Amino acid sequence: MIIGIDLGTTNSLVSVWEGETAQLVPNALGRMLTPSVVGLDDQGQMVVGDIARERLQTHPHLTTALFKRHMGSAQATQLGPHRFRPEELSALVLRSLKEDVERAYGKAVTEAVISVPAYFSDAQRKATRIAGELAGLKVEKLINEPTAAALAYGVHQKGDTSFLVFDLGGGTFDVSVLELFDGVMEVRASAGDNFLGGEDFDDAIVAHVVGALLAQGMPDAERPAIRHRLRREAQRVRHALGQQSETVFQLSEDGREWSVPLTQEKLLEICEPLLERLRAPIERALRDARIKVADLDEVLLVGGTTRMPLVRKLVASLFGRFPSMHLNPDEVIAQGAAIQAALKARDATLEEVVLTDVCPYSLGVEVSNSVAGQLQDGHYLPIIERNCVVPVSRVKSVQTLRDGQRQVSVRIFQGESRLVANNIFLGELEVDVPPRPAGEVSLDIRFTYDINGLLEAQVDTPMTGQSRTLVIENNPGVMTPQEIAERFAALQALKIHPRDQQVNSALMARLERLYQECLGDVREHVGALAGHFAGVLERQDESEIRDAHQDISARLEAIESGY
Ligand code: ADP
Ligand code: MG
Repeated sequence: MIIGIDLGTTNSLVSVWEGETAQLVPNALGRMLTPSVVGLDDQGQMVVGDIARERLQTHPHLTTALFKRHMGSAQATQLGPHRFRPEELSALVLRSLKEDVERAYGKAVTEAVISVPAYFSDAQRKATRIAGELAGLKVEKLINEPTAAALAYGVHQKGDTSFLVFDLGGGTFDVSVLELFDGVMEVRASAGDNFLGGEDFDDAIVAHVVGALLAQGMPDAERPAIRHRLRREAQRVRHALGQQSETVFQLSEDGREWSVPLTQEKLLEICEPLLERLRAPIERALRDARIKVADLDEVLLVGGTTRMPLVRKLVASLFGRFPSMHLNPDEVIAQGAAIQAALKARDATLEEVVLTDVCPYSLGVEVSNSVAGQLQDGHYLPIIERNCVVPVSRVKSVQTLRDGQRQVSVRIFQGESRLVANNIFLGELEVDVPPRPAGEVSLDIRFTYDINGLLEAQVDTPMTGQSRTLVIENNPGVMTPQEIAERFAALQALKIHPRDQQVNSALMARLERLYQECLGDVREHVGALAGHFAGVLERQDESEIRDAHQDISARLEAIESGY
């Protein structure tokens, strides 16, 4: 069994192909969405998902989120005595999803298809593969998220078509234009904003509310201590305004109840600047794909934030039609990954689909250009251009610069800037050349970029017949096989919070958070519930625990939805 995983910035999901459909698999708490949050509990055990998300607020130094943004870098996160790379934090999430499937199906899982954003670079893709390895999963394939969404929507069963995938998640916005032609699916272009998502909408609401609270006389509405609660309440209000035309933002603080009424119209006004930022990436993707809005057959909505009616309205008005959204927008990518896994595992019904992807960045080398009669280093010569369909192989020739030159260093970069200084350095290769007058020795540089995002650079010197292939090993973001083996062992040795305690621990973590958040009577009430629940847990009577859990959950639901 190959599982399909959506390893998201905010939430992750796992799905398996079963009985001709992609089935999502619930986690230990019975939920499909596992927050991509990792932490340490009070016993020094690792916690992943909802428990960790609750503890982000009560134990900020022992908890971490948003690490997908650091994939492909070596940025370390300290959690208590442990130090983790982004691959390892991702691995802990993957491992938890893998175990959810193993529990549900009663068999070992060793292979996965994992989705990545279409714009992910070589280093980010490698890091994702390594995360899989560290979780004990062989990554059969990485699939681009928009391609996965298209598979979930069954676009491949509709014949030739061009469509756009609009993916607005918790912290990122991705637009991709895809084309299905002769049974071949191509991502024609991808664009986006790596710092635009639901959380930015929450921040905008918080900014508005803080203004209103200050005007109402709250002494210090901007103090960091209440920031988490403001954001949480902002998210609740934002979700609520998807169903009702007005609601009230509520906060109990300084011994009183504060409230700020909000309507859908007000929300639109607050979010306008963010909605405005959704336009540019759409235009860029259409331009890069050389396709007009009128030629798109479909627009697919992906990502939890596209549940917001005002986002849907904007999309409808931008494209002059209603987008496809009959699937849950936060589940489609995991479903598509499972479909891809099924393709891998020879399911006949979907066999005719051939998937191709695009190179998300341009890849090139440093060259010298003549500027005002003077040779100037540091210029960029793209060899593979952004958004070409992969696998791709392109060659360009360069010549020696100086008389008698004996060596040429080929420096490889990724990026779109005219100057290499602004691009990402990937690797370097020194090539010996015979001493000749400047410009007489020619080098052919061939770049081959494959479906898994791996780049091979080959430099041929026709004059000498010499050929060299570049292995980009000095990339600072990528772990060596030895490091992987060491870290795999280290992760195996970590103590993990027991699965059968997760439901109760999640409730306890929620009680602790609410105790910290609330004041006065409510706080006292929450404190009493926490004490009661701790007592019930100690008595270890299954049915008493279940009843208490249900009762307390209902009470907290009431508290959190503002009564
Ligand atoms: P990611 O792809 O970033 O991991 P998701 O696609 O799961 O994340 O999207 C998470 C975001 O979706 C959060 O910011 C959350 O507030 C938002 N979201 C989820 N449900 C709703 C809803 N009903 N209304 C508005 N936003 C929602
Ligand atoms: Mg996502």
